[in-house]
Amino acid sequence: MEQIRQLQEANEKLKTDMDLFAMPEPLPERPEGAPEPGSTQGTSAPKSSFSADVLGMEMPYLGEGETRVGFQHFDKVENEKARVEAMQVEQAARVTGVTPRPPPKYEKTEWPLSIVFVSSEVTPWSKTGGLADVCGSLPRELVKRGHRVMVVSPYYQRGTKEDQHFAGAFDTCSNAEVGLFGGSHEVGFMHQVYDGVDFVFVKHDCYERPGGIYVDLEGQAWPDNQFRYTLLSHAACEAPLKINFEGKGTYGDEVVFVANDWHAGLVPLVIASKYRQYWNTYHNARTITVIHNILHQGSEPATTFPNLGIPDDWYWCLEYQYPEHMRAHELDLGLVVNILKGAVATSDRVLTVSEGYAEEICTPLGGKGLETILTERKHRLDGVVNGIDLDEWNPAEDEFCEFPYDVSNLAGKLMNKRALQRELGFEVRDDVPLLGFIGRLDWQKGPDLIRDSIAEMMNEDVQLVMLGSGIGELEGFMQWAENTYNDKFRGWVGFNVPVAHRITAGCDILLMPSRFEPCGLNQLYAMRYGTLPIAHATGGLSDTITRHNPFAMDDPEVAVAAAIASDEAPDGNREMADLGPGTGWLFDTMDTWSFMYCVSNACKLFRENPKMWRAMQIQAMSQDLSWYHAALKWEKIFEWSKIDPPHCEINQQHEHHHHH
Ligand code: ADP
Repeated sequence: MEQIRQLQEANEKLKTDMDLFAMPEPLPERPEGAPEPGSTQGTSAPKSSFSADVLGMEMPYLGEGETRVGFQHFDKVENEKARVEAMQVEQAARVTGVTPRPPPKYEKTEWPLSIVFVSSEVTPWSKTGGLADVCGSLPRELVKRGHRVMVVSPYYQRGTKEDQHFAGAFDTCSNAEVGLFGGSHEVGFMHQVYDGVDFVFVKHDCYERPGGIYVDLEGQAWPDNQFRYTLLSHAACEAPLKINFEGKGTYGDEVVFVANDWHAGLVPLVIASKYRQYWNTYHNARTITVIHNILHQGSEPATTFPNLGIPDDWYWCLEYQYPEHMRAHELDLGLVVNILKGAVATSDRVLTVSEGYAEEICTPLGGKGLETILTERKHRLDGVVNGIDLDEWNPAEDEFCEFPYDVSNLAGKLMNKRALQRELGFEVRDDVPLLGFIGRLDWQKGPDLIRDSIAEMMNEDVQLVMLGSGIGELEGFMQWAENTYNDKFRGWVGFNVPVAHRITAGCDILLMPSRFEPCGLNQLYAMRYGTLPIAHATGGLSDTITRHNPFAMDDPEVAVAAAIASDEAPDGNREMADLGPGTGWLFDTMDTWSFMYCVSNACKLFRENPKMWRAMQIQAMSQDLSWYHAALKWEKIFEWSKIDPPHCEINQQHEHHHHH
């Protein structure tokens, strides 16, 4: 009401300002009785002509509420009233009777640890992918549990607006000298506390140049990446010993290092080969290698080994030989130093971003050459699915979506669907399933499977929107499909966060046909928004999506109980979890037949069994996808690493020998 009053005032003022109060034009009449669903903006001005004439845009742009209304009818109060009325009608019809899960209860751990994350990127200072999000979000949750957590990452200055994030970091004035590339190199440490986490940024000229994080302005990998990340790893080993945090002292040498991907992969090697073996420290430290994507291993010709600052007798940990068919020519032995291999060989534990991916990287298809050594270490290999940022992706408070909603009432979701249909220039219909795809257009994400199925899919009564950029051919396909199936297909080439949010909220179904997927975030966002995923049964996708069970009861209570059961332990109370209606569909083979089988099934269910659909939405939305939930599992991994003796502990073993 307060809001309406404010709008009323704003409206009056506007009328006065524009001298419109004398205007006799009456407001357009709405139909008698209940307002027509979809008439949320108070009028239905012909949109295509408006957008074409006034905005000169190809796509009818209808994102901003008022702009589409003819000027005479510009009345914020009427618009708002219509919106509220329509919302009320929908809301009455769409109560689920389910209360949203309360936020997690934070309890302090009884075993606080000192933890050091080492990463080449961290949100919001630097980001190219999920790795950055993990290192930005997880440490905060661990701090809430009572751990002391540091994140070590480069101090990038790349001539972009991300640079300014580093403005909050101050020089700790404790520099370190590290030995690599045949010399001694000095680095500085900048420090910023954020949500109780110590973010430490390694300062060196090699991180300060215009371009990408890993690539130059032309998109070519920086030729000195091996130097840049060798430096990061060595510097990170110094940070807990050197930096004296005001009032709290140093972290000391009993820390748990979390080395993320190959960029930080030398940390476990440096700890074992130098600090423990020669410098008699870090005996009680532990090292955990985290694999976010095994495609990148940091391999360089074996002749670069002396660069790495690792004692010679540790060469064998790093050596990797490419199989014959991958070598360049007859005389090429294919010998490289593979940093990720060295990390897997020497760290105390290995962790990936889902249990399914942990299994897959032990197979020839998924291991990308590291399957043998990973299999050897399988008893120390685990997977934990990433959490999501519950504030950034929250249907009840999404700054990019017009209509808020949560699991207790799905009216807002329907309204967002209509808004999205209008925005895209689709026919506004509640009964047609609206499908979405969001992601990089590359081989991993499988958009080619959608391309290959498009004719069959467009035979169905569906609407499909794809958002993404990448391989030119696939961008071209999206344009072609939009022309060919103009009433059913929209392709949006580009990277656009607001549109990604509106697709996630407005669609009924999210397509995620990834060939492989270490964890995957979009299916998690989708489920939180009650959008049911159809995905390839791989990696994190099969771990996080529960297949639709056609024999389940469509009872909301069963759905909630199933969600809670699958949260509690992935393989614990499977029985209850399996009694639920499920949260999506998984196809087992990467072919159009299996994919389309799921799509047709899902669309049929959508049309014919709204009650079951609702139950699936409830199960999807009732899951605990929080980082806190994930943090509790990470904590277990840390504890296990502390219980076992270190995997590489040459020095002490020798001493042990002498004593006997
Ligand atoms: P990956 O890290 O392999 O690209 P994830 O599913 O883990 O895949 O994360 C992808 C993230 O990038 C998600 O947050 C997704 O919403 C976002 N994203 C991908 N493509 C686009 C796009 N074209 N526009 C907006 N956001 C996108």
